[in-house]
Amino acid sequence: MQNVKNTMLDGLLSWLAPHPCISCGAIGALLCDECKKYIVSCKPAHCLWCERLSGVGLCSKHAGIVDVFYWLGDRKGVLRRLVDGPKLLAQREVVLVAADMLALAFTFPSGAVLVPLPTSRRHVRMRGLDHTDSLAYHLSRQTGLLRQSVLRRTRHFVQKGASRRIRAVQVHGAFWVKGPIDPTRTYILVDDIVTTGTSMYEAARSLREAGAKTIWAVCVARQKFSTKQTQSVKIT
Ligand SMILES: [Zn+2]
Ligand SMILES: [Zn+2]
Repeated sequence: MQNVKNTMLDGLLSWLAPHPCISCGAIGALLCDECKKYIVSCKPAHCLWCERLSGVGLCSKHAGIVDVFYWLGDRKGVLRRLVDGPKLLAQREVVLVAADMLALAFTFPSGAVLVPLPTSRRHVRMRGLDHTDSLAYHLSRQTGLLRQSVLRRTRHFVQKGASRRIRAVQVHGAFWVKGPIDPTRTYILVDDIVTTGTSMYEAARSLREAGAKTIWAVCVARQKFSTKQTQSVKIT
């Protein structure tokens, strides 16, 4: 039923403002069904960190704080436009397409809880959209899973361009958990992009400390991390 509603919404949006597909150029939807299916069929079958084969996004060496890590591919081409779109253009429709693809690509456990990684208020004001919360909202509508914003930021931090080591230090203690955690449920952290994973892992650590036993993560794209990125982070 929900998919019918979303299809109707897609149809209405396309009728109001028809798009060329951002992948193949066909007029109709922002990303046509054929291109969605093709991108989903190319989803990674290896570990996020070491490229060993894995159906759950993490090899046995790298699973731990996070048990399963799903992402659609590296941040390039269409996926780059999907993760950059909401930040640069505040395109809510882009978020809807990204959520649609995550729901198409992956099977989530019933009774799981979607937890958006908190975005700083400053970034929400700048972009006019809380893209992570919006992504979790649309994924919740697509999958029927509960969405709970149980994570809060303790402070504002900017990680773009920071080295892996600095990111890990600065993000320590950056989140706290608001509200009770049900240890029988799977908690699925939702973000648009993963680079070093420090924010995601710190969020997972906070959830575990609050009582969560099983934690998954889902992202739209992976940004390959450059060791040349050494600019310091800013904390306010
Ligand atoms: Zn297309
Ligand atoms: Zn690995």
